Amino acid sequence: MKEHIRRLYDSAKMYRIDIPIDRETFTNACFEIVRVNGFKACYLRPIVFRGTGPFGVYGGNNATECFICAWEWGAYLGADALEKGVNVMFSSWNRFAPNTMPAMAKCGANYANSQLIKMEAMAHGFAEGIALDTSGYVSEGSGENIFVIRDGRVITPPLGNSVLPGITRHCVITILRELGYEVVEGMVPREMIYVADEVFFTGTAAEVTPIASVDKIPIGTGKRGPIAKAVQERFFAYINGDIDDTHGWHNFV
Ligand code: PMP
Repeated sequence: MKEHIRRLYDSAKMYRIDIPIDRETFTNACFEIVRVNGFKACYLRPIVFRGTGPFGVYGGNNATECFICAWEWGAYLGADALEKGVNVMFSSWNRFAPNTMPAMAKCGANYANSQLIKMEAMAHGFAEGIALDTSGYVSEGSGENIFVIRDGRVITPPLGNSVLPGITRHCVITILRELGYEVVEGMVPREMIYVADEVFFTGTAAEVTPIASVDKIPIGTGKRGPIAKAVQERFFAYINGDIDDTHGWHNFV
């Protein structure tokens, strides 16, 4: 949770939004919402935005408004997705070019791009789209980071490829290294995906979702691969408290 709130404040800073309350208060408010709703598991979405103020583009005098939404959310990419994987396509939409919108910010405006990617993919019968950056390198899914495996080596696009620094991405890199895999952040050409042994998405909502096919080309065996499975097992063991939280990822509500 600490890391989520840190990224909220980072995103606000990138957009010159002052959050008038400190991080601890914000974090405690998130816990309180989970507590009063009695959720065992839920998705939390804290939002800050420029609220009432003068019309016009300059937003510096607008009051900052804060919302925290929480709801129970099922498997984001479908009930079978974690086990069977999902069929996806490369999007015809690119992620934004560097120095247009800050791709590292988790900002509502950025999701106009994500929505185009997701809706195009679903209109074509796919669960999700993978976007390239404006140089043609693999960036990420509309709401997920991506990991590619070949010959036991794991590669994920670096932040310079218009990538959101996902929290699950960070946890999964840590887990992969714990499991003894070599992980590098490196540029991924589109064709590397087609010949990978395994590809999977990561995200708070998508968790660790294997990709079964891209553009109707099966990835590896077309089924969840052994590394995705091993990562899922360790990821859910952490989440469910089955193993010690040696990284300080847990907060008790
Ligand atoms: N990229 C984008 C564009 C996203 O919207 C998300 C989901 N928030 C992610 C990656 C994954 O980030 P996280 O693991 O923090 O949920």
